[in-house]
Amino acid sequence: MTVTRLVTSLVVGCAASAAVVSAQELPRVHVIATGGTIAGRSEGGQLTGAQLVAAVPGLADAANLGVEEFSRVGSSAMTPDHWLRLSRRINELFASDAGLAGVVVTHGTDTMEETAYFLHLTVEHDRPVVMVGSMRNASAVSADGPANLLSGVRVAAATESAGRGVLVVLNDEIHSARDVRKMDNNRVDTFVSTEWGALGVVDADRIVFRRAVATRHTTQSELHLDPLVAELPRVPIVADYAGSDGASMRAAAHDGAVAIVVQAFGGGRASPETRRAAAEIAGAGTPVVYASRVPEGRVMESVATVDEGLLSAGDLPPHRVRVLLMIALAQPRTPRELQRLLDTH
Ligand code: ASP
Repeated sequence: MTVTRLVTSLVVGCAASAAVVSAQELPRVHVIATGGTIAGRSEGGQLTGAQLVAAVPGLADAANLGVEEFSRVGSSAMTPDHWLRLSRRINELFASDAGLAGVVVTHGTDTMEETAYFLHLTVEHDRPVVMVGSMRNASAVSADGPANLLSGVRVAAATESAGRGVLVVLNDEIHSARDVRKMDNNRVDTFVSTEWGALGVVDADRIVFRRAVATRHTTQSELHLDPLVAELPRVPIVADYAGSDGASMRAAAHDGAVAIVVQAFGGGRASPETRRAAAEIAGAGTPVVYASRVPEGRVMESVATVDEGLLSAGDLPPHRVRVLLMIALAQPRTPRELQRLLDTH
C-alpha cells in the first residue's frame, strides 16, 4: 500500500498550498556529515550524521534522506586529503545513482570556502551539491544548524538548483562556492557574497534564484582529478606586510612549493622586497600569483608579467587561488595556462 503523507509545501506554515505527496515520490538527497559546530554540543562530543538529521523537524517531509558519516572534525582540521576523498565520494554517488537528486555536506564554517571551491571545480555532475554549517552549536539557545540543514536539503532537492555549481546555504541565503566569504567571527549571518550578492534565498514556501554563476565549474570546469593522484602538490600562501624582507617568500620556495600565492595589498601591490623575492622565484621556474587581502575588487593586470611566471589572481582571494593551483598543478602547466584558469574559474 502506498504510504502518503501531508506535505505542507515541503515546510511548515503554508497550509494554503498543502499537497499530498507519496513518500516514494519525494526527491532523494544524500547527507554527508563531516563535523563542525553544526554537529557540536556545549557538553562536549559531536552529533553523528544520523543524530543531526533526526534533530530537524520536517526534514523527512522535504526529501528521502540517506546519511553517511565522512569525518567528525572541526573544519580547521580539514586537509587536502579530505577534499580529494570528499570530491571522489560525491562523484561516485552521482555516477552510481542516476535518481539521486542532490548531495548536502555538513561542514564547519571556518574552511567551508576552501572545501566548497574544491568541490565546485572537481565535481563532474550538474546535480546540486550544497554545503551547510552553523555558527551556534547544537545545544545553543536558537541553534541555527537545524534550520540551515532543512534549507540545505530543500535546495539540494530542488530541480532549479542544478547547474549552478556548488552552493553554500546558511541563514536562508544561497551563495556560490566561488564568491562566498565568512565575514563575521560570531554572527549567524556570517556568510556574504561580498561583491556580487547571494544567488538566491530560501523562503518558507519556495526556493528563489535571482543570479547565475558566470565562471566555469562542475561539468564545465577544465580542472579534473586524476584518479591516480593520491596527494596534491604544495602551494603555500605567504602574507605580505609593510617592511617585509622577502624571507618568508624565499623560505616557502625552498620548502618544495610548486607555486606560491602572495596575499598582497590593494590591487595586488606588494612591498619592494616581496616583489624582488617573487621575481627571483618566478625566474627560477616557480609561478607566483599576486592575490589581494582586500575582500572586493580585482588585482590589477599590470602586477602580472605572465610569461615571467608572475600572475594575477583577479578577484579570487588567496585561499581560493591556492585550491585552484593545487588541482591545476597536479600536472605540468605553463604560466599562461595557469593565468587562463585563474581568469575563467
Ligand atoms: N570551529 C568550527 C569549524 O569547524 C566553526 C564552525 O563550524 O562554525 O569550522
